[in-house]
Formats: sequence, structure tokens, C-alpha cells
Amino acid sequence: NPATLTRTSAFEWRIEPTGNMRVPGVIYATEALIQAMDERVRDQVVNVACLPGIVSASYAMPDAHWGYGFPIGGVAAFDAEEGGVVSAGGVGFDISCGVRCLRTGLQRAELEPLKERLAETLYHRVPVGVGSHGPIHLDDKQMEAMLTGGAQWAVERGWGSRDDLRFIEAQGRITGARADAVSAKAKKRQRNEMGTLGSGNHYLEVQEVGELYDREAARAFGLAEHEVVVFIHCGSRGLGHQIGTEYLKSMATSARQHGIELPDRELACAPLRSDTGQAYLGAMRAASNCALANRQIITHFAREVFAELFPAADLELLYDVSHNTCKLEEHSLNGERKKLFVHRKGATRAFGPGHPDLPEEYRAVGQPVLIGGSMGTASHVLAGNADPRVPSFASACHGAGRAMSRRQAHRNWQGRQLLEELREQGIIVRSPSAKGVAEEAPHAYKDVDAVVDGAEEAGLARKVAKLKPLVCIKG
Ligand code: 5GP
Ligand code: MN
Ligand code: MN
Repeated sequence: NPATLTRTSAFEWRIEPTGNMRVPGVIYATEALIQAMDERVRDQVVNVACLPGIVSASYAMPDAHWGYGFPIGGVAAFDAEEGGVVSAGGVGFDISCGVRCLRTGLQRAELEPLKERLAETLYHRVPVGVGSHGPIHLDDKQMEAMLTGGAQWAVERGWGSRDDLRFIEAQGRITGARADAVSAKAKKRQRNEMGTLGSGNHYLEVQEVGELYDREAARAFGLAEHEVVVFIHCGSRGLGHQIGTEYLKSMATSARQHGIELPDRELACAPLRSDTGQAYLGAMRAASNCALANRQIITHFAREVFAELFPAADLELLYDVSHNTCKLEEHSLNGERKKLFVHRKGATRAFGPGHPDLPEEYRAVGQPVLIGGSMGTASHVLAGNADPRVPSFASACHGAGRAMSRRQAHRNWQGRQLLEELREQGIIVRSPSAKGVAEEAPHAYKDVDAVVDGAEEAGLARKVAKLKPLVCIKG
């Protein structure tokens, strides 16, 4: 039986601590979203609440669905002083998967006549698909520089401008990365994969800005109706996946050695103060730099393509934020400032107005929160809040969230037919995999508009702009 939910407001549901739970569980969602939510999310929220050193509560965002160990859409923070842990499953296999948004300065009407050519050219320039390789090959020395330098390294290599860096989380470089904690196998997998999108739900999408909800924030973000923007969603490719796989095993050993009782093997974790915990943090940060560099290089390819087709275009970075991370951040806890290791798995960091880490252009309105929907529905830009009603460490949803498994979606839809239907709606999708397209059918995801409404009503973030897809290059 799933855990009992107590409704604490129109948008908040609590699971009171029972058994080995150290803190309560809290799910932010409307009633409709809760009813549609996979019941196993509750079990996973409960399991996470049992981990040592967890503070405040085990949280789930409105787009939450079942994941490996932790739910996707899960947020949990741990205190190193109080025996807290770090968990590879709490970050996810695609370490630092995230979204960046670029403005183009183009109007949709200017783009429309060249849409087909744009799709074709992007598809050939940006390597996409399972195990796809790019034109970039890194030797050992370059690999190490990339793993410690992130997007800063990419900019130094000529893939972008210094101005881009101000609009990336942590200025494009995560400190504390340890290339020595990344295995030779993980590095080998990444040698030829820089600047590639990968497969599945990773995409480069060209969108039109539709409705604006918050004109002040839209102005600060440089978003105007009918203008064209680009979303890039991908992560740390083979490298991140290999790190996740390897550390999951060493964390299972570490947990046993430290006498940590795991409610689920998939929650394997290591004390923050253990060698394994420290090595994972170093490797995970290196993978984050890989993801940041990867999105920076793909941005460079997109800029080349737009420059060829639209001489007037100027692709400026709006923001880049990851949604599979564990980050050391300072937050208020019972009126005290505390340094906490915040796991966000399928959840976006959403700093509110005034946060010192935000670029000054956005400081008055809050951090841009970039939320994909699907290739056939809307996506959204939100702004972070500083709402004391939601103590979930400045976090928000990261997408619509899956409504069904890939397998089920593959049974329900046919790739080719979907592509035709989307084309009739004016959306051009290019993908190397018809099966992949079926698995990614728009209706395999929840209703993104309902999810962002839920996020806004709960106080997690404010809606700023809705985006409509025009061209999607899909993994
Ligand atoms: P995840 O990071 O969990 O793999 O995916 C994040 C979110 O991206 C999903 O929950 C889904 O809502 C969204 N998404 C998946 N495919 C697409 C796509 O092709 N285009 C857009 N705009 N969003 C997508
Ligand atoms: Mn990913
Ligand atoms: Mn992702």
C-alpha cells in the first residue's frame, strides 16, 4: 500500500514520518497531478526520507515520476556535520543533464520560409543518436582540462564568448572537480562524444515565444512575443553514465561498511565525509563540467548554422541550468544559515530574486527556470521565487514528466505517423530513430501547462513565458 498523504494546502501533500523515516515527505502538486502521479513516487519519497543526515523533508516536485532509487523530480538535502550522505541515485545517471536557452533576435515570420532548411542543416551539424561521435577528439591532457574547466574550457578553445559564461550556473565551471576520480573507462567513452546530443529525450529545439505571463521578468530575460529561441537539452553523455554506474557499486559497499541500512538497494550512498563520498563528489563535478562544456559546444554548432541561414541572427545565451546535480549551497534551516548538499534529480535549481549568484540582469526577478514539455506541446520559462512557504531549497520542476514508460509509449504510437502529424501542426522533427520518436510521443508526457501551473500555485516559481515548438532535433 502506498503511504498515506495528508493534504496540507491546495498544493502540498505530506507524508508523516513513520518507521525509519527521519523527516516527513512533502509532494508539491495539485489534486489532479497527485491523482495522475505514479503511486510508487510516494514509496520513493518515503525511502529517501530514511537516509542518514537528511534535513527538513524529502521533497517531490509536481512533475515527479518513478526513477532509479530516488524519484525523478526529487529534492533532498544533507548536512555533512550531521552524518549526511551523498547518493549517485539521487543525482541520476545523466549527471548534470540540463537545459540552456538561447535568444536569436529573429521573428518567427523571418524563420518560417527557411524552417525546412534549418531543420536539415541543424540535423547534419549537431551529432545526434545513440553512441554518436562528434568532430572533436580529446587526448588525455585535453580531457583533464575539460573535466576541470567546463564551459570555461570550451570558451577558451573558441566555442563561444566570455560573455556566455555569466549566464551559466556557476559561471560555467564547477569547482572541486577531480579528473583523478573519473575512471579511464569513463574518459574513454567520452573521448569522441563532446558536442553530441545523445539519444532519447535529448534535443535541440527551435521555438517561438508565445504568451507572456510576467512582462517585467520577460523583459529582464530578453523575451518578446513571436521571437525565436533555442532550447538545448543534454547532459554528460557516456562519461556521466559510466561514473554513475561505477559509483553506485562502490556506494553499495560504502553503505554496508558504514552500517547504513538501505530501504532500497538503488539508494546506495556514502557518507559525505568518507573517501567514497568525496571521490564521487569530485567525479560528479567533473561530469558536470563535461555537461556544461558539451552544451557550450553544441551552442557553437547552432550559432554556425544560424549564421549561415540568417545573417541577422545573434544567438545570445539566456541561461543554462542543470537538473541532475548535488550541490553545496547555503540555505536557511530553522532560522539558521546552513551549508547543505542539495540533491536535485530531475529538479531545477530556482534561486529567487536577490540571490547573489544570479547575473545582475536577472537579480531583481529571480533565476530563469527552463522547463521542457515535449516535441509537440509547449515548453516554459519560469522565474525562481523566494517564497518561505516552500522550504524545498529553491527548487522547481524540470519538465512535464513522463506519464508512461517508454515501452508503453512504443506500443501506443508509431514514429513515422507521429512525425507526419507533427508536420501538419507546423513542427518539423528530425531524429535518427523512429522508435525513439514513438517513445517520446507528446502524450507520453504529462500536461506541461498543468505542471507549471501547479509549480506556480505551490510557490516554487512564477510563469514568465510559454514557448511553442517549430523545429526539434531529437536524439
Ligand atoms: P529528463 O531530464 O527527465 O530526461 O527530461 C526532462 C523533460 O524534458 C521531460 O520531463 C519532458 O517534459 C521534456 N521533454 C522531453 N522531450 C522533449 C522534447 O522533444 N522537447 C521539449 N521541449 N521537451 C521535451
Ligand atoms: Mn539527460
Ligand atoms: Mn534532462
